[in-house]
Order: sequence, then C-alpha cells, then structure tokens
Amino acid sequence: MDNKSNYKYLLSDLTALKGVGIKTMNLLKKKKINNIFDLLWKLPKSSTDRSLSSEIINLKIGEVQTITIVPQKYSFPRVRNLPNKVICTDTTGEIDCIFFNSYEGYIRKILPLGKQITVSGKIGYYKNKYQLTNPKYISEDSSLIKQKHNKYSLTEGITEKAYNKIINQIIKNLPILDEWHSKHIQDKFGNISWNDAIKELHKADNIGSYQKNFYQRLAFDEIFSTFLVNSEIRKKIKKIKKINKVLDIKKQNNIIKKLEFSLTNDQMKALGEINKDLVSSNKMFRLLQGDVGSGKTIVSLLTAYNSVNSGFQVAVMAPTEILARQHFTLAKKIFPKNLKVEIISGKSDYKNKKIILNKLLNHEIDIIFGTHAIFQKKVNFKKLGLIIIDEQHKFGVNQRKKLSDKGGDNCDVLLMTATPIPRTLTMTMYGDMDLSIIREKPAIRKPVITYSKLESKINDIIKFIKKEIQLGNQIFWVCPLIDESKKIDHSSAVKKFEYLNNLFPNQVALLHGKTSLEDKEKILNQFLINDFKILVSTTIIEVGIDFPNANVIVIENANKFGLSQLHQLRGRIGRGDKSSTCILMFKSNLSVNAKKRINILKESNDGFIISEEDMKIRGFGDVLGFKQSGIKNFKLADPVHNYDLFILAEKEMRRIENSNENINKYKPLVKLYDRADIINDMA
Ligand code: ADP
Ligand code: MG
Repeated sequence: MDNKSNYKYLLSDLTALKGVGIKTMNLLKKKKINNIFDLLWKLPKSSTDRSLSSEIINLKIGEVQTITIVPQKYSFPRVRNLPNKVICTDTTGEIDCIFFNSYEGYIRKILPLGKQITVSGKIGYYKNKYQLTNPKYISEDSSLIKQKHNKYSLTEGITEKAYNKIINQIIKNLPILDEWHSKHIQDKFGNISWNDAIKELHKADNIGSYQKNFYQRLAFDEIFSTFLVNSEIRKKIKKIKKINKVLDIKKQNNIIKKLEFSLTNDQMKALGEINKDLVSSNKMFRLLQGDVGSGKTIVSLLTAYNSVNSGFQVAVMAPTEILARQHFTLAKKIFPKNLKVEIISGKSDYKNKKIILNKLLNHEIDIIFGTHAIFQKKVNFKKLGLIIIDEQHKFGVNQRKKLSDKGGDNCDVLLMTATPIPRTLTMTMYGDMDLSIIREKPAIRKPVITYSKLESKINDIIKFIKKEIQLGNQIFWVCPLIDESKKIDHSSAVKKFEYLNNLFPNQVALLHGKTSLEDKEKILNQFLINDFKILVSTTIIEVGIDFPNANVIVIENANKFGLSQLHQLRGRIGRGDKSSTCILMFKSNLSVNAKKRINILKESNDGFIISEEDMKIRGFGDVLGFKQSGIKNFKLADPVHNYDLFILAEKEMRRIENSNENINKYKPLVKLYDRADIINDMA
C-alpha cells in the first residue's frame, strides 16, 4: 500500500506495524486503541534525558544516567536468587551491572568483555559500589542512544522500549496528507501541517505545550471535524421538504389566555421560533433547552396543539410512564374536549392497546403520550406531523438522526433537555439541531434556599423536617451513590430509610437502584398524591416530574456530586408556590475550594451559569449529561481552555455552509476523527 498520502494507513490494524503481533494488538485493544490513528493520541507523559551525562566518579545515585564503560569480568553464580553480575570500569572508577532473570548468553552478547559499551539506567549504590540494575539501551555506539527519551504511560505487558519502537515507526511512516483547512485557518496556526503537528506532539520537549501552534491546530482539527459532521446532518435534514403546517394563532392564544399563569418572555420566544419551523416547508429538527422548571412542557404542548389544528397527529415521548401521564393529564386539562388525546401505558392490557393502535392508524387520536414504546414498529400513524421527546439528553447524534428518519418526511421533531450545559458543549453535542433556549424562570417561582450542614448536625435537620411535615410539606432525602457500579449504593439508602422510618413511622418510602420499575412508579405516584412524607432515594429519582408539594431536599455527602448534578437534584423541589430548602450535608468541614464551589450553588439558580462553573472546576468529561451521552471525548480539545477554538470552528463551519463549498477535501479529517457511518454518504 502506498502510505505516503493515504489516510487509510492510519486506520489500519495495529498488526500492520513491524513488531506488533496479535498479543500486543490485543493488549492495546483493551485500552481502546484499535488502529494506528488511536495510538497517536497516547502522548508522552515525561521524558528521560539519556544524554551522555557522566563518568563513574560523578554519578548521581538515584537518577537515570548514561555512561560509557568497558566490561571487565563476569560473575555468573550458579546459585538461585543470586543475580548475574558484570564488573565494568571507565577511567574514573568501577560499576557493577546487575542482571536479574537474564541468561548468560544474552549478557555475554550485550556486554562483551573489553569493548566500550554505552549503558543507561537508574544508578544505585550497594556495599560501597555503584550499581546499574538491568541496564537499558545498551549499545556499542553511544550516538545511538537518543538524548531525550519519551516515557509513555505504559500498557501492561508492553515494555517502554517496545512501545517507543512502535511510536517511532508510526511517526516515521506518517502519511503526508493534503491540507484540508482553508488558507485563513492555516494562517491561524502558523501554517503548520497536520503531519508536522503530530511529529511535534510526540517530541519530548513539547510535553504540556498546549499553547503552541501544533497543539492548537490538532485540537482545532478535532473540534472542526465534529462540527462538520453535525453540519452535514443538519443540512441533510433541512433539505427534507415537508407539507408545511398552517398556524391558527387565535386558537393557540385562547389556550394561553386560559392558563393559570402568563408565559415568560423566553417561553414566548421559543414558541415563536418553533412556530416558524412548523409553517416552513422544511422539516423541523429543534432542541428546546431550558433549566429544570423553566416551563418547557407548556411550550411543547402548545406546539402539539398547533400541529393538531393543522390536521396532523402528534406523538409525545417521555422517559418514564409517570412523566408521560403527567403530560397527558395536563393536555386533557388545557385542551378543548373535542381534541383526542390518549396514553399508551405499559400497564394497558392487550385489548386496550390494540384499540389505541387502531385509532392511531385511523387518525382517531390527535395526540398520543407514552414512553419509548410509542416508537415501536407496530405503532403506526395515519398522519404523523410532530414528534416531541422530553428529557432526551441520553441520546447521541446517531440515535437522534434515526428518530428523525422514523417519523417520515412530513414529521417535525422537537427535542427537550433540562440539562443546561456550557455553550461549547451545546455546540458539540447538539450542533446538528437548531436551538431554542429558555433561560428565564417563571417569576412566581421562589428561589430554593440552599444551606450546607455537617453530618454531625443531623439532629438540626430532623427538627427542621419535623416542622415542614407539620406544615403539610414533603421531603426528598438523597443518599450518596457510593459506587458508580451501583452495587453497594443502596445499602446506605436502606440504612437511612430505617433511621428515618424510626423517627417518622409510616411516613417514609425508599427507592434505589434495585427497586423494580413497577414498584418505582407506584412509589412515585404515592409520593405525588401525598401518601407519605419522606422519599429516601439514591439519585435515581427522575428529572422532570412535578412534585409541587415537595419543598425540601436533603442531599447527603454532597461533595460526591458535581455542581450541575446538585443543581439538577435541587430542581426537583421549588416547583410549587411554597418557599423551598435544599440542605447539602457534608461529612467534614469544607476545604476552601469546596466552599467556593458550594457558594456558586448558593448564589445562583441559573443552571447555565452553574454548568459553566462546574466545567471549569471538573473538566468537561464529568459535567452531567456528557459522559452518559455516548459522545466520545475529545482527545486534545478542551471546551474550557479552548473556548476560542470552538468559536473559530463554528465560524468556519458557518462560512462553509454559506459558501456551499465542496467539503470533499475534509473527508480524511472526518474519516479519521469521527463517525464513519455518517460520512459514508458524504459526497
Ligand atoms: P420543565 O422545563 O422542567 O419541564 P415544567 O414544564 O415541568 O418545567 O414546568 C414546571 C412548573 O412550572 C409546572 O408546574 C408549570 O405549570 C409551571 N409553569 C410553567 N410555565 C410557567 C409560567 N410562565 N409561570 C408560572 N408557572 C409556570
Ligand atoms: Mg420537563
């Protein structure tokens, strides 16, 4: 294969490399390194200076040094556990090279008596003599030992020497790829090519040079590739022609007038943006992003109503039955009686389901609510015009595209997420969609007051809870997720349940990872209708469900959670008109840094601000919703530190979109960095 200008070399199996057999390949595969390209991003962690540093007399004990010596005498004791030894000298002194587990023949070969040999390794001192144990990089030619030597965090089973050999081989054979960036972008990075940038990346002297041209260019490549893929998907969806909907604004406003509240400016703005999509002859593919409690549901229901009034059916998908039911109930309440709304529930029996399916097929149902079950194959519509998906932040790009395809050409798509994330992440994760944001919260909402409390002060908390229960209020009690694996997380919740149930008999219920789905829905429903007062749970309580009567949330071991997560948990209260309280419990006094974090939470109720801060503190990988999203992490790019690169990439992407430029030249970039399945149908 001609490697020199072909990116495909980089996507070859690792066994294409000399010295890599099945065994090494499998070791690396375990580390998710599947091809040569993947290996490029395992960067040297540090370097060792192996320049000729010393004569024996000047050796520094404990440091890695390189010396040229002459082997004088072997000592191969035939006793178990005693190492083989080679006594060596230079003009200034004597040193013992010690070998554990090396054969005599090998030692004779690499350290032949009387010859000048250069060795390198960590210098030891034993019984008044310098020692070099298992010396590395033995060579007769001192110039063969590189002055600086990269150290990679090694995969178990692969030696440093072998690993360096692999990397050096790749760097040597790096294909010279045609430049894909525009002149303008090349200029921004000092015109360094991709190949040169990779070479720089692996130079020991460049470790940590995040600000240098080569690093910035490579980070930009990564971001830009993602944006380009997003843009392609969006363009493709936008190109789909649909029968436009006709807006009956009078009907819509009649509903709005009858609401118990008036819509916020942001709700009105979002509704306007969505309506514009409905009446256009291009398919809508829009994300409605808004903090918990910002009032997305009513916006989406009005959208559903508008579509129905234009003669279409609507499917509303929620992540849980209880949430689907809450939306369904609200729809029945605010829409005229002649509008036919239904819910498909896992509990409805076979006969009932069949009736509903038939009605959908005959357009005898206008809006159907349900969980993901409404996207099963057997569910068919006569005239589906809109899909609404609530709390969908667990979907990745590909899943979304599939959903959009499923509804057919005439079907608009509105997704909702209650995970406010920093702008750079929104661009990355949702760049395939148009975006409406609700930032403002309904004015009547009283902000949640947030306190921090030491665990030892639990009696104060109990006293407080007692008072709240007497006032008729309900309490969430969240126990920490001790282990991500969720194997042991429920034990602490069980203990807390027993403790609280003792204090408040028959007023406490428990939810944890092992609770069956059915029980879970039952318990949540009972909590909703105020059958009991305290719900002890791990973090599995769903986002999105409205518990207007719950106004206290206690979060144990709060330092286990990130800010965004704490904010999400806190969002489960404060939905009614009562004032509400969030109590963050800590095991010990907070460090200065932890205090800073918690203060952000106390001072702000704006999920967007909190997520920005969260990301600055913890890095983007941990911000809620990103890890679970199935979207792969960037290798070099960092949404906090490379903010300007994200903005630049967005600008460049828009420029290309507007100029209708042929994007063929980006094919290697996208093939290397991103999801090949989308690019297969890229021209
Ligand atoms: P989310 O954006 O988290 O889905 P919801 O749509 O569930 O939020 O709304 C939360 C609560 O706020 C609901 O009880 C809803 O009736 C109420 N609400 C929505 N919009 C307004 C508004 N403009 N003024 C007052 N209350 C509102
Ligand atoms: Mg919601």
